[in-house]
Order: sequence, then C-alpha cells, then structure tokens
Amino acid sequence: MTEYQMLIDGAEVNAISGERFETENPYNGEVWATLPRAGVDDVNRAVEAAHAAFTNGPWRTMSASERGRLLRKIADLLPTQHAKLSEIETRDNGKLIHDTRYQTAYVAQLYEYFAGLADKIEGNVVPIDRPGILTYTQYEPVGVVAVITPWNSPLPIAAGKVANALAAGCTVVIKPSEFTSASILEFVKLFEQAGFPPGVVNVVTGMGGEIGEALVTHPKVKKITFTGGTETGRHINTLAAASLKKVVLELGGKSPNIVFADADIEKAVRGAIAGIFSSSGQTCVAGSRLLLQDSIHDAFVERLLQLTSGLKLGDPFDPDTQIGPITTRPQFERVVNLLDVARKDGARCVLGGEALSGPGQLVKPTIYVDVQSGMHIAQQEVFGPVLSIIRFKDEEEAVRLANDTMYGLASGVWTSDMSRAIRMTNAIDAGCVWINMYRAASFMMPFTGHKQSGLGSENGQRNIMNYLEPKSIWINYGADITVPFLKE
Ligand code: NAD
Repeated sequence: MTEYQMLIDGAEVNAISGERFETENPYNGEVWATLPRAGVDDVNRAVEAAHAAFTNGPWRTMSASERGRLLRKIADLLPTQHAKLSEIETRDNGKLIHDTRYQTAYVAQLYEYFAGLADKIEGNVVPIDRPGILTYTQYEPVGVVAVITPWNSPLPIAAGKVANALAAGCTVVIKPSEFTSASILEFVKLFEQAGFPPGVVNVVTGMGGEIGEALVTHPKVKKITFTGGTETGRHINTLAAASLKKVVLELGGKSPNIVFADADIEKAVRGAIAGIFSSSGQTCVAGSRLLLQDSIHDAFVERLLQLTSGLKLGDPFDPDTQIGPITTRPQFERVVNLLDVARKDGARCVLGGEALSGPGQLVKPTIYVDVQSGMHIAQQEVFGPVLSIIRFKDEEEAVRLANDTMYGLASGVWTSDMSRAIRMTNAIDAGCVWINMYRAASFMMPFTGHKQSGLGSENGQRNIMNYLEPKSIWINYGADITVPFLKE
C-alpha cells in the first residue's frame, strides 16, 4: 500500500487533521494507495504558501529566462519518471498503458513548449497624441491560480494549466480529482528536483465539495482554471463571481461526428471508433453522436460493427486490451443507468448495451441506431463507450442536428468536398472542428468550449495572456501640468 503526501510550501505533508482516504484500481477494485484528506486549514496553508511565494520569494524577482529554464528542466527530468508515472496513472485511472505512456510523453513536450513562452511576454509602447509623455504597457502575472482537474486525463489536463500559469510567473495550488490524485502527487516531486522555489507549486488532495469550494472562495486566489462537469463548473463560476475572480471553465460535451456520403468511408469508420471508444469514451471531446447521411448509413453501420464487435475488454496493463474500465464507481453506475434510459426511450441497440458481468468496472462498447435527437442518450453526456447514431438527409439537416445540444465542445466532419467542409466549419457552433480526422490535440492549439461546454480557453501561444494583467504606465518627461479650471 502506497502512502502519498501532499506538497505544500516545498514540503511533503499530511493533512493537519491526519485524515486519509483510499484510492482504488478500477479494474480489480484493489485499494492500492491512501492519500491525505485535506480540510479547509490545509487549503489555507497551501494558498498562503503560494501567495508568499508570489509576493516575496525569489520567484517574483527571477528573470523570465530563468523561469523558462526551470520549466524546461521539468521536461528534461520527466523521462526519468516516465515508466513510473504511466504505471501509476493506469493503476489509478484504468486508462490503457499505451495511452498513459503517450500522455506522459506529451506532458514533457508541453512543458518544453510553455518553457519557451516564458520570456516572450512583451508589453508595447503606445503612441498617444501627447508630446512629452511616454506611455507603455507591461504585463504582470495575476497571482495565485487555483487549478482544479477531473479524473479522466489527470496529468495532461493539469499540465496545460500549470505550465501556462508558471510561464506567466503565477504560483499555483492544484486540487486534482479525489479519484485520481496519485499521478499528480508523484509528478510534482519533479519541481523540487528542478529547483523551483518552495510554494510556487502546491497540491492539496481531498473531496471537491470540502476543499474545492474553500479554494475557489479563498480571497488570495486570483484566478481559477477548472476542468470538469458542466454543473460543477456553473457552481464554481457563481462562487467566483462574488469576489470577481478570473475563471476558465473547460466542461462537458456531446460532440457530433458527421459523415457525408462523399467521405472516405474506411477512414471515417476508423475516426468514429477512435472518437468514441478511446479511453472507453471517457474523454470530453468524445464523438458520442455519429451523424450519418442516409445513403451510406447501412453500409457504414455494418463496417463499424465488423471492426468493433470483437474489441477486447479487460486489464489496462495488458497490451492486447482495447477497452479498459470506467474510472470511478459512481461514473460506472451512471453509465449503466443511462443505458437503461436509452432502452426505455426506444433507442435500438446493435452492439453491447450492458456492463460486462464480473469484477472490474467494464462496460461493453455500445452502439445505438435510429436515435432521435431529442432522446436522453443523444442529449446527455454519457462519458462512457456509448455511441448514438442519428441519420440525416442533407447538409442543412446535418448542421441543425449537430448544433442541437446545449454543448459545443468539439465536432468532426468527413467529406471530400472542401467547399462543404469550409461551410461546415463556419456553421458548427463548437470550439473545435476536425475535418477528415477526429480527436487530435496539441498544446499549441487553443482549446475552448462554446455554449455550455466552457468559458475562456487554454493552450496555444496567446493563452498566456489569460494568466497576465496589463498595467498602463504614463511617464511625463517634459509635458506641462495644466489644470483647465485653475485661474492663476
Ligand atoms: P467533476 O465536475 O465532478 O469534478 C471535477 C473537479 O472538481 C474534481 O477535482 C472535483 O473534486 C472538483 N469539485 C467537485 N465539486 C466541487 C465544488 N463544489 N467546488 C470546487 N471543486 C469541486 O468532474 P469529473 O467527474 O471529475 O470529470 C468528468 C467531467 O469533466 C465530464 O463532464 C467531462 O466532460 C469533463 N471534462 C472536460 C474537459 C474539457 O476540457 N472540456 C476535459 C476533461 C473532462
């Protein structure tokens, strides 16, 4: 049994109360580690440490190049922990081992990218029309940033937020999901090895309702960057509004993957499979609504079934496994419940439709056809390996169906007609449109959700501005001070 500790002010610590909670392997239900169950006092301690590091410590006075060098050291050190971090993630989260290896390598590249941005933050001289006055802007880090993350891709999601905040010169308090905190606690040990000053990076572990709210409402937290469910995101936004904190929300999705009759069908079938069944459907951008044009519908479904009916469910450490477990028990129950709802609503199941009996939170890859857009299964985010197929007759109907949800996170369009592809990129109300591909991501590209899928964005070069505040400087080097109403 591994016993983890939190990171506060450069020290590995337990909760002040001494309380701990358990974390399970979702494949076999084994409790394999315990973690500190932080309370409000621990949050206060972590925010105070981050605030002190931001206001007084060497971090504040460090040159931007030095900040970048420290971030690059994280990228350099990460390969030494690559195998360990991937294994922890697979054990705690249930993601396939080849996925967690890929994601860990991605995190190293991400740190390298943001390291390069640290010394490219520039203000500008503004030529206002007043002789004798120099006016310019400088950009300053906002301060302490609260980083709140979900359980589905713990390391990459936290990395996108933390590396960006640190490149800007902020300090952070991370609150990972209570279901998958272990990899982050292991990862942050690298900050000490790299030589980051104490307090720049802190982690508190525990329950969202208990410590998440304390973090969000803490007066010394200036910005919140949150990834998680839409309901939690709305709640956090309301709490944050009371003290005018800056908020970024990356929330849920119900993304359409749209295939026109003129598409390369073999590629589109593979795109549909990768879109919904990767990570057992537990990705925010999952292409969970497959929109098929009438004339190719039957042949497409037939090919889809050929390729998916033999998918192997099982141990995520086994290299032959294609579908791993659902990460959390409540989520497993939620998925099974939504399958029931789909059945009652009359969605026609052509694959799966149930959990695998036996141990492990395994849900069979599931495909529904003849789904109507108003059904629950077409509107609610399942966050599991469940695909709803909806027919459309023409482009106009495809657009209407694509936009017919409260979400607007991602989308895919498969067509060989480039004019149509461009029309679709304009017509779909989502933060991302993939043409003839699905589910690609890069820290170099902005990531954002439209409608109820989010607020603000992460990633990409310009996003660093969201962790900075402009300051306008006015210097009089020769202008008279005139006071129009003063009679001398
Ligand atoms: P969640 O909203 O339940 O929890 C997310 C985080 O918020 C956890 O760390 C949790 O402890 C914390 N939290 C819970 N209640 C809180 C509160 N009252 N105050 C402050 N913090 C609180 O989400 P989840 O179940 O962990 O993750 C799944 C969801 O995340 C899905 O809806 C998925 O679509 C979404 N997601 C979105 C993206 C994106 O980039 N858009 C990426 C991944 C996951």
